[in-house]
Amino acid sequence: MARIFNFSAGPSTLPVDTLEEASRQLVDYHDSGMSLIEMSHRGKLYDEVHHDTMTLAREILDIPDDFQILFLQGGATMQFGMVPMALLKEGQTADYILTGSWAKKAYSDGTLIGKVNVPWDGKEGSYTKIPAQDELTLTPGAAYVHLCSNETIGGIQWPYFPDTGEVPLICDMSSDIMSRPLPWDKIDMVYAGTQKNLAPAGMAFIVMRKSLIEKARTDLPAYLRYNQHAESDSLYNTPPSFTVWMTNLTLKWIKSIGGMKEIEKRRDEKASMLYGAIENSDGYYRNPVDAGSRSKMNVVWRLPDEDLEKKFIAEADKAGLSGLKGHRSVGGCRASIYNPMPVEGVKALVDFMNDFMKANG
Ligand SMILES: *Cc1c(COP(=O)(O)O)cnc(C)c1O
Repeated sequence: MARIFNFSAGPSTLPVDTLEEASRQLVDYHDSGMSLIEMSHRGKLYDEVHHDTMTLAREILDIPDDFQILFLQGGATMQFGMVPMALLKEGQTADYILTGSWAKKAYSDGTLIGKVNVPWDGKEGSYTKIPAQDELTLTPGAAYVHLCSNETIGGIQWPYFPDTGEVPLICDMSSDIMSRPLPWDKIDMVYAGTQKNLAPAGMAFIVMRKSLIEKARTDLPAYLRYNQHAESDSLYNTPPSFTVWMTNLTLKWIKSIGGMKEIEKRRDEKASMLYGAIENSDGYYRNPVDAGSRSKMNVVWRLPDEDLEKKFIAEADKAGLSGLKGHRSVGGCRASIYNPMPVEGVKALVDFMNDFMKANG
């Protein structure tokens, strides 16, 4: 088996343990004579996986009992629309903090549904920084405050969660879910497409305060009602059983390596190696991001010119380091170093960066 290091932003690399266990069990799931993805989602075997996934997530992220875990289809993008449809009611305002491409997408859907306010917009600084608490002009009594905790394209990440008082805080954590412990006293809802830190595509992993679910509209079509999904533990209709299963295996892997503590340790080691290589390059590699806002999940950098960037990406690819091209909207290079990316992968990348600079400096 020859696995390369895959730095793709999403779908992205998964733990080898997840893939191997899935391939062992794919055809004949635990001697049942059929695959888990061929059987009824109302049966005992699937039900065990479904609820065990919730239990594991609760344990790893230390999720309190007054929060509901939901597995919904449509990815994070569906939540961009579903959140305002269910929670932004007539006469209310929702706050959207704009830190980059993904926050703006959520905001754009919000504008279609109701009245929105922007407490802070990073446009002037080309979205290279996260605002401080005292820079936010929050709307008193807003329906919610929305933020994107990690901007996958711009490579910036909230180093803290802002205090929003009585107003619910809703976070798109698609690219940093399960990479950091969460202050549940400050947060009311997180949602994340699973294809970055957890599993294949096909699902949003959601943690939502039960009191917020109670505030959500109940006069919407069934799939758009959070309370409908909560009451049936995300088994109202057919859940994305394959993605739930893969999430389960990745959570088991997180637990097996030592849980959130070890995840944080590896995360910090990988991020500091990569930012260190950029800093020690005498300006050959440039990271445009404010030092206090650097993402530990998506590291972006530029080379002296675009031809060198093309060469860098092509040669890295040949060296078994794939997916390093920056998002088409911003160019440059980007390494996504989510939980499953091994430390060795980042070591190999840093070695390659140093060698490339010597040969092309
Ligand atoms: C990838 C991504 C999304 C979109 O996720 P889908 O599951 O494709 O809808 C939304 N927000 C962030 C921060 C992302 O990284």
